[in-house]
Amino acid sequence: MYWPDELPQGTHDGRKAIQGRQHYHGMNELIASNYMATINALSVASQAQVKQWDEKNDEEIQDTLYWRQAFDITTYELSTVELFCSCNTPGNPDKMLIECTTEACKKWMHEQCIVDDALTALYKRSGTDKLHVAPVHPKKGENGDEGKRPLSPSETGAETNGDGARPWEGLFEALLKPPDMDPPIIEFRDLQDGVVDGEKTWTEPVKCLLCGNHFN
Ligand SMILES: [Zn+2]
Ligand SMILES: [Zn+2]
Repeated sequence: MYWPDELPQGTHDGRKAIQGRQHYHGMNELIASNYMATINALSVASQAQVKQWDEKNDEEIQDTLYWRQAFDITTYELSTVELFCSCNTPGNPDKMLIECTTEACKKWMHEQCIVDDALTALYKRSGTDKLHVAPVHPKKGENGDEGKRPLSPSETGAETNGDGARPWEGLFEALLKPPDMDPPIIEFRDLQDGVVDGEKTWTEPVKCLLCGNHFN
């Protein structure tokens, strides 16, 4: 058993070449391998219990050591894990996956992807939707004159804003209400000063990234 951090350069993770720990590896996750290393017997502290994690039945694990992937030293192949969400990437066992409430869908999504999608949608409509739009406070020191004009999505979309992928940063933030909420809802917070005719925080139903239905 090895730590994900020890995955060598050139490891094949599906079609990607990777090295070391990936974003989906959990804190207590190990990698099984047929790689044999000779180590100093004095460096062995004790025997460790390592469970194999079945992704379909993920209740018990998390605070014990576990493994779900194997690394083959002869091919540098890392075995595949289940992919979730609209981003089609694995889940990190330390983070929450959210299940769609629509019977026909029931797909699992990353909490972060749901939040990012909701913020993107909010950011896009914030140019026209008066309810949650605040006067503009452009980030200081960015884009010179650009920043002095009113914010509108066409001007500050992903392509033109310095920090492309997350143009809402500093304007809005959102989080999913705790997992015991059923169905989960998303809470937005407007971070801008001087909101006059909008609310500072409000909640909305969660939208599935795959079927597009709202959770109910
Ligand atoms: Zn995702
Ligand atoms: Zn769905």
